[in-house]
Amino acid sequence: MQDKLRALVKLAVIDASARHIEELLEGIPVELEERRAAVDALETLVGGQKQQMDEATALLEAQVDDLKMRSDMLARSRAKGAKARNMREAEAAERELDAIRRSIRDGEAEKERLEGVIAKARETLEEPLAELEKQNAELAQAAAGVEERLEGLRKERDEITAGREEFVALVPKRFYRTYERIRPQIHPAVVEAKDGVCQGCRMAISPQLFNQIIRGDDFYRCQQCTRFLYHADVVAEPGEAKPHEAEAAEAAAGRQS
Ligand SMILES: [Zn+2]
Repeated sequence: MQDKLRALVKLAVIDASARHIEELLEGIPVELEERRAAVDALETLVGGQKQQMDEATALLEAQVDDLKMRSDMLARSRAKGAKARNMREAEAAERELDAIRRSIRDGEAEKERLEGVIAKARETLEEPLAELEKQNAELAQAAAGVEERLEGLRKERDEITAGREEFVALVPKRFYRTYERIRPQIHPAVVEAKDGVCQGCRMAISPQLFNQIIRGDDFYRCQQCTRFLYHADVVAEPGEAKPHEAEAAEAAAGRQS
């Protein structure tokens, strides 16, 4: 049983050292995703404005073609007027010319209006487009940096958690499952029971439970905070410890001598 308890304590030590890295590994991609979503939103906004501008540009092109056609009509109408054989034909030609001139004036006005719309849209878009370009470049740079950072963190995590499986194998399955379930919420999930007090929540442990923990004949958990509890003497390494190592271990575990 002591081996099993010791394995859980060691497992908790490993997980505590890797905890910060695990959090970064989870948090960094989320942060990048949020940033990407913000850039996407800006892109959609700018895209909508750009589409309006493109539509106005298409209308302008059609208007320019139309004006060219009307000016051809005007030339033909003039030629026809020059060939008028009598007053009636001359008047009819003049009316036709007037109508064409009017439609050209209207067309010119519409062309100016569209040019105004496009110029304004282009000016309005200038800043958001530049901002979008800047943000896209920054995002690409950040994404490249993040991948590199995550790679480094994964490597670091793997180094820290090397040998973890050995301890997992020693802890009875149902306690390991409980440990995995509580550890995301309660950190650290395995704490020392010292002088009858849970070192996690600082609450007094019932004397009966504390005695059981000292005996170390099973896995016990704090009645208040649900953390796993152990007594330092129970999980101490068996056999003769080398003096320096023993000192270091004692200091690390904060163990009473
Ligand atoms: Zn507690």
